Amino acid sequence: MDKILCRLHNLTKTYGSVAAVVGVSLELQYGELISIVGPSGAGKTTLLRLLAELDTAESGEIYFQEPPTREHPVVLVFQDFMLFPTMTVAANVAFGLRARKLPRREIQERVQRLLDAFGIADKAHEYPGQLSAGQQQRVALARALAIRPRILLLDEPFAHLDKTLKMDTALFLRRMLHEFGITAVAVTHDLEEAFVMSDRVGIMIDGQLRQLGPVDEVYSRPASLDAARFLGPVSSFPADALNAMETSPAVEALRQQPNSKLSLPNTLLYCRAESLAIVPDAAGNAVIEEVRFVGVLVLYLVRLQFRERETPLHVFSLENGLEPGARVRVRVSQVCIEEEQV
Ligand code: ADP
Repeated sequence: MDKILCRLHNLTKTYGSVAAVVGVSLELQYGELISIVGPSGAGKTTLLRLLAELDTAESGEIYFQEPPTREHPVVLVFQDFMLFPTMTVAANVAFGLRARKLPRREIQERVQRLLDAFGIADKAHEYPGQLSAGQQQRVALARALAIRPRILLLDEPFAHLDKTLKMDTALFLRRMLHEFGITAVAVTHDLEEAFVMSDRVGIMIDGQLRQLGPVDEVYSRPASLDAARFLGPVSSFPADALNAMETSPAVEALRQQPNSKLSLPNTLLYCRAESLAIVPDAAGNAVIEEVRFVGVLVLYLVRLQFRERETPLHVFSLENGLEPGARVRVRVSQVCIEEEQV
């Protein structure tokens, strides 16, 4: 059987003069979880609504290898759970199965299996109002999985959970989807959540799917500067700024290639904050401008002086003793080329 469950081809959806989704194509494989990340207003929710058939695209098509049916529909889970407050946890999870008139015995078995798997069996006879946010989220997910949806769509699924619970729930969801063999698409603006739970991540900006790939690939080989910027601090600089930095063998090898774009002074390069390092040096050609603590790491904003120019750089470092005004040298271990700007 084809491994592709669903294929979106060149989908476009506009609202009046707003192009919400522009020429989006993607293939969804059986059993995978894709997270679509992007800034607010990028078109993520619209894309989910098109998949759920709550909206229709002006152009393009959605092809299903196995179309959704009443028994196995596309299910959209919203951020605010939407549990039935007057039904117990068990009745909430059983709701879709009862509506589909499954045999009583099968309903009981499926509900019990889900309650066990989701760690909420002891809450079966309680009401949603008696549960914590994390437990309510589990009930909402268990209810959605109960009917074995053709595709599970999640819109900012963990928006109401605190940071630790978010990570735990994201990892848990990933395990559950694999265990129950469910294919899912989630939209989120929370990168950590997307990274821990997804098989592939798509970056949506201005209605376009700018990049889609495995998490590590999207992170380490960004398709463009604006896609890279969305996933963390990035520095951009002209290629001749490399002359003012220490370069790794990898960057040197790129520079030495025949017709290397890195030797054209105006080629725009960019790199992640962890691809740069700073070394304290009173005679260094860069000055620390700002120091920000971001958890384990320190993010330094550094000004590199070269020729008559100054270039701001973002550098992640474990070193936290450096003050604004201190002089440093900069090392670069990896760079990307911004093709459009060359
Ligand atoms: P995201 O989920 O990435 O925040 P949305 O898909 O909600 O983005 O919105 C994409 C764009 O489409 C935004 O500019 C938004 O204002 C617009 N939009 C979304 N839904 C509607 C609607 N029903 N009517 C008019 N404009 C809409």
